[in-house]
Amino acid sequence: MSESSATIATVVKAVREDRLWQRHMEMASIGATGRGGVNRQALTPEDAEARLRLLAWAAMRGFSTSVDAIGNVFMHRAGKDSTASPVVAGSHLDTQPTGGNFDGVYGVLAAFEVLEAVADVGIVTNNPLEAVVWTNEEGARFQPTTMGSAVFASALPLETALATTDAAGISVAHALAETMQRLAIPQRRAFRFPMAAYLEAHIEQGPILEATHHTIGIVSGIQGLRWFRVEVTGEEAHAGTTPRRIRKDAFVAAICMVTALQGLMYDTADTVRFTVGRFEVTPNSPNTVPGRVLFTIDLRHPSAEVLSRLGDQVDAVCHAQAHGCSVVVTETLYSPPVEFDPAIRDLLKQAATRQALVHMDIVSGATHDAKYMADLCPSGMLFVPCRGGVSHNEAESATPSDLAAGTRVLAEVMLALASR
Ligand SMILES: [Zn+2]
Repeated sequence: MSESSATIATVVKAVREDRLWQRHMEMASIGATGRGGVNRQALTPEDAEARLRLLAWAAMRGFSTSVDAIGNVFMHRAGKDSTASPVVAGSHLDTQPTGGNFDGVYGVLAAFEVLEAVADVGIVTNNPLEAVVWTNEEGARFQPTTMGSAVFASALPLETALATTDAAGISVAHALAETMQRLAIPQRRAFRFPMAAYLEAHIEQGPILEATHHTIGIVSGIQGLRWFRVEVTGEEAHAGTTPRRIRKDAFVAAICMVTALQGLMYDTADTVRFTVGRFEVTPNSPNTVPGRVLFTIDLRHPSAEVLSRLGDQVDAVCHAQAHGCSVVVTETLYSPPVEFDPAIRDLLKQAATRQALVHMDIVSGATHDAKYMADLCPSGMLFVPCRGGVSHNEAESATPSDLAAGTRVLAEVMLALASR
């Protein structure tokens, strides 16, 4: 280790809660909705403005900046060994249309604060340190979510991402070109450039840490996800003249399917996440027996085994409840669970323990950019509490001290990783 634990402690102490909070409030003013939240969707002028603000802060500190072909922005503080891969941390600056002031922004500003604290102390780490802003994590304007990190990791072809359009027909290629022009970053970065490690700090977006009085969540992994589309076809008929026994009521069949699925997915531990979020009845007329129903299933679980066991039964359960209708079950998305690097989780745990912060292991219910980084290099995440578990909501809230606590843990782990 070239960095003594005393040096690391000095950097941890140099993390400034007031500066970190101030930066959050400045970011919250960009795309502010006037109701306490922000609308800063990916590759909009507001998104560009937030990135420009960050670039201005980076320039003031002398951090060099680079950008890749999908608009992911990297801020770099040089290390002693110019051949060593950087230790990278970050998240995203884009938000939902009625987003909060902490989702994503926190991970970017925490990483940036670590770079600043290191600069304030004036040490040079062995490996370079970098803060990253991933493009379009939210997937609100352009689908899919985590677009920038997926393209970076070759999980999504660049051409596919660029051809994606928003509701107004504007392509990612067009919106990205405008953003890139405003950012005017000359240095280009290759996709999949080697990283020594990747870390991401994030608000929990769930109620567990707050309810159990934990300041730090050491994220063990990101739960897996399976999506299904179920199309039930019956027969439209007159509501007044058609006896029950000859009806092929697609709605009744679909209700029975959902009820049976609800039973299948029930677990006493309350770990299975099962949601029917869309339910379309056709022709949706008060006096016609419904001839067609389309509904969706969103199924999530941290265990790949449970996810396949439950998901693989969806088709059979739906067919068993068809009540004379025909049913087609299509799996539309599969995202396997991610387990974060045990050594990184250990470092996070050690740092939280050394800093006397109450911490616990936690599974991420939402997806994050770290998911794709986990395929490329040792990766990990930490969570801090948010009030009431509320997120993707203008009322999203976190305390300055929790945000700073997470940043101090991040600082200790980034420095440990950059000192080997
Ligand atoms: Zn996020």
